[in-house]
Parts: sequence; C-alpha cells; structure tokens
Amino acid sequence: MITASLGAVAGVVATTKIVEAALPGSIGGAAGALQNSELEPADRIPAPTTTTTTTMPPPVPDGQIMFPIDAREGECWISDNFGDCRGTNCSRSHEGLDISGNRGADIFAVITGRLTKKYTDSGKTYGAGHGWTLYDETTDVTFKYFHMGTHAAGLQVGDTVQQGQVIGTVGNTGTSGANSDTNYHLHFEYRPGYVPTDPRPLLVRHPNCTFYG
Ligand SMILES: [Zn+2]
Repeated sequence: MITASLGAVAGVVATTKIVEAALPGSIGGAAGALQNSELEPADRIPAPTTTTTTTMPPPVPDGQIMFPIDAREGECWISDNFGDCRGTNCSRSHEGLDISGNRGADIFAVITGRLTKKYTDSGKTYGAGHGWTLYDETTDVTFKYFHMGTHAAGLQVGDTVQQGQVIGTVGNTGTSGANSDTNYHLHFEYRPGYVPTDPRPLLVRHPNCTFYG
C-alpha cells in the first residue's frame, strides 16, 4: 500500500510538471525538450522491491516433504489431482501434484540432493517445459519439477543443491500452457524408489496455500 501511495504522489508531481512545462510551449519550439527533461524525475522513481523477497517455507518435520514454492497469500491452491486421467481414455495417469497460482514465485529444492536432469522445452504445447529432476541417492528418492518459468541462474545438471535453495520460478511452460495463458502452476512429482507417489499426504501445509478436496 505504501508503494501505491508513492505512485499516486508521483502521478501528481508529473501532472504538475506537464502543466508548468506546457506554458512556455506556446512560445517557442524548444519547449518540447524542456517538457521531456521535466518529466524524467517522475520516471526515475524506483520499482517496488517487495516482490523480490523470498521467505523460507515452514520447517519440515521428519518424514514430511518441504513445501516446494514461496507461496503468496491468496494466490496458491492445491486440488487433489494425483492419479487423475491423462491422455485418450485414461491411457496414462497424472503422476504428480499440481500446485497452482503464484506466477513467478521462487521454487525450492525440497531436499539436499543432486540435479540429474534439466528440462528445457520452452514451448506451450508439449511435455515438461522447463524443469528439473532432483535426486537423493542416500534415500533413493526422486523429485520432479515441471512447467517452470525459469531455471535459477548458474545451476546445471550434476550440481548438488541444498534443501531450501532456489532452483527456479513458477511458470506456464510445456503442456501447462496448452489450453490457457493463465494456467501457472508447478507440477511436482515425488518418487521414492522412482515409483510415482502422491506427495500431498506428506506435504507440509503452507499457511498461504489452500488445499482443496
Ligand atoms: Zn501436473
């Protein structure tokens, strides 16, 4: 709300300067340049920085799974869609849980492990889009993250990441965007022993995310 107030004040300032600058404008042709320079200060007001703040998700009790995104209040919801039909006549099933909303929110490594595959299809019609496979060889547990907007800069296959480290942002790539330009979500897979398993019962409940169903 503070940012909105600043913006409103800036708007008033800019309007005032336009009026002042417009006065000599009726006298000489050089007034155009004067108007531009007078307007510049209003344009230089810095963008709000609140959207870059990352908060750690709630702590993770033994046996549970860290909440994988930096959920924002009122923008995050989860329905019970693990195992849902996919493909013609249910030729395959949905092997993950979709965590919806939160466009651009940070995505966390839910365990300390190794990035073993990077998905880079940036289209909106097929497959995983941008994503990672994260693997912990000590427990033989794999996590997959699909439809990300961006990968965190500097990470590559083979890197070890720490639990809570930012590995990307929530996006709409791959099949996520096939039917809509607003279907931003993280497709999140949990595979102990590489068997697709519903992560929802083990997922730490985030106070900013609503669980339906
Ligand atoms: Zn999904």
